[in-house]
Amino acid sequence: MSATIIDGKTIAADLRARVAAEVARLSAAHGLTPGISVVLVGNDPASEVYVRTKSRQVLETGMRLFDHHLPQSAAEHELLALIARLNADPAIHGILVQLPLPPQIEAQKVIAAIDPAKDVDGFHPINAGRLARGLPGLVPCTPLGCVILAKTVRPSLVGLDAVVIGRSNIVGKPLAQLLIGESATVTIAHSKTRELPALCRGKDLLFAAMGRAELVKGDWIKPGATVIDVGINRITDAQGKSRIVGDVAFDEARAVAGAITPVPGGVGPMTIACLLVNTLRAACAARGLPAPAI
Ligand code: NDP
Repeated sequence: MSATIIDGKTIAADLRARVAAEVARLSAAHGLTPGISVVLVGNDPASEVYVRTKSRQVLETGMRLFDHHLPQSAAEHELLALIARLNADPAIHGILVQLPLPPQIEAQKVIAAIDPAKDVDGFHPINAGRLARGLPGLVPCTPLGCVILAKTVRPSLVGLDAVVIGRSNIVGKPLAQLLIGESATVTIAHSKTRELPALCRGKDLLFAAMGRAELVKGDWIKPGATVIDVGINRITDAQGKSRIVGDVAFDEARAVAGAITPVPGGVGPMTIACLLVNTLRAACAARGLPAPAI
C-alpha cells in the first residue's frame, strides 16, 4: 500500500484563494479591508525570509500590510510602545511579532502586550486559555493547519485515537486541544515518554512535532493511519547534500500509512494560510460581523 500524499501546498493555495474572495466581499459589502501588522526585530536571516513570504501572501489576498522593522539593538520598551500603538489603531486587525526576539527582549512580555483580539498567532495567554476551555478565540496557526490537513482525508476525527509527539506551547499543546475539540482521543508524547514506538503503533492519527529528523519510523505507524509531519529539520545526506526533512522517515512511513504530509510542502504552507484566516476572523469580529465560513 502506498499512502495518499496530502498536498499542503495546493490545499494552502486553495485556502488563500478563499480568503482573498472573502476579503473582496467584505470590502465591497462593508467597506472593511482586513489589516495586519508584521513586526520584525533584528536581522535573523530565517526570520527575514518568513516575514517576506508572509508579507507577500498578505498583499496577494488584498489585505492591508503594515510593516515594522526594528533594529537588533531595539529596547523592550520600544517594542512595547509600538505594540501599544498598533493595539490602538483601528485599521490594524492582526499583529504578528516574528519570533525569536533578540535576547534583551522578553518574548512572553511582548506576546502578553498584544490585544488578544488582534493576536493572530494565537499565542496570548487569554487565547491559550480560551482554547483550553473550548471557547472561541484565535488559535495558533500551525496546529490549525494540521487539523485542516488531517480532515481533508478524514472529515470526522470523532472517536479516533491520536498521538501528538511534542508538547510545545506553539504546536503540541494547542494541537492536542484542537483534537480534543474534534472529539478525538488524544495522547501527548514528549522527550520523557517511555516506549514511544509502541505508543504510536495503535494510533489512527499521528502528529509529529519534535524537530528530530526522521525519528518516526515506518514500523511505528498503524497500517492506514494518517500521519501529519510538522517537523522541519535540515540534514546533510549521504551524498553531502543539504536538504530539509521532517520528523517522519517519509519513504518508510508512506508504505504503511493511509495518508501522509510531505516535508516540505505539507504543514509549512498551511501555517501562513491559517494566519490569513485568523486575520480575516479578527477583522470580522472587530466589526461585529459573523465569522467567515472558511
Ligand atoms: P520545541 O523544541 O519547542 O518542542 C519540541 C517538542 O518535542 C518538545 O515537547 C520535546 O519534548 C519533544 N521532543 C523532542 N525530542 C523528542 C523525542 N526524541 N521524543 C519525543 N519527543 C521529543 O519545538 P516546536 O514545537 O516549536 O517545533 C517542533 C518542530 O516543528 C520543529 O522541527 C519546528 O521547526 C517545526 N515547526 C514547523 C512549523 C511549520 O510551519 N511547519 C511551525 C512551527 C514549528 P520536551 O517537552 O520533553 O522537551
